[in-house]
Amino acid sequence: MPTTPAPKVIPVPQLSDNYAYLVVNESTGDAIAIDPAEAGPLLEAAEQAGASINTIFNTHHHLDHCGANEELGNATGAPVQASAIEGDKIPGLAVALEPGQMVDVNGFTAKVLRLPGHTDGHVGYLFGKDLFSGDVLFVAGCGRIFEGTPAEMYESLNATIGALSDDTRVWCGHEYTVKNLEFAATLEPANAAIAARLARAREQRAAGQPTIPSTIGEEKAFNPFLRVTSPELIATLVAKDPAQATDPVSVFAAVRKLKDNF
Ligand code: ZN
Ligand code: FE
Repeated sequence: MPTTPAPKVIPVPQLSDNYAYLVVNESTGDAIAIDPAEAGPLLEAAEQAGASINTIFNTHHHLDHCGANEELGNATGAPVQASAIEGDKIPGLAVALEPGQMVDVNGFTAKVLRLPGHTDGHVGYLFGKDLFSGDVLFVAGCGRIFEGTPAEMYESLNATIGALSDDTRVWCGHEYTVKNLEFAATLEPANAAIAARLARAREQRAAGQPTIPSTIGEEKAFNPFLRVTSPELIATLVAKDPAQATDPVSVFAAVRKLKDNF
């Protein structure tokens, strides 16, 4: 049981398809801003919620996740906290977090999860049952492997994130859900969880709503990167390439490669 209260999570759309988040302690009004790319919408969202931003967290060093650190920091006085591994690439870094450590902030205790694969020093933030997964885990997908190996990304998703309880909510860095599920359906055409989530995601997007959050339990049902032992998925890969190796990391790498070109 977490000893701290559950935060109120407010997603704030950024740029064309990014999400930043406000993590609000409703009893104090203090808010953490995660992954600011544009300061204005975050300041507006905080004002509307009666909250004030006093801390900035980044999941990784790509500018669509930390490009507004300095503008938002200057506007609020909030210090920037991010992965020590990427400290030299994070604009305005004030507090270097060691992956694996716990961080106490605004009455919450968050765990800093090391999630290499998209970038080497990528971290996720786990507040009780709320995971901020940046560009490692998306709804029904995962990020591109820029700095790591398929084996590292596989471990980040299937060992580190896969070990979280099924009711953990997933708040990710981009709105890629519809395209991810269209891809997932090509690998597992008979998977009813994929078809149902795709229909719902299309409705949500048509209504201008975000598709976040999902849960770890849902991801295990429709995310191909968490389904590398699915017989239907493996059969699809082997039909495309009879020489396909079927161990989990090889399947993961093949799925990621197909998605890169989808
Ligand atoms: Zn990124
Ligand atoms: Fe990104």
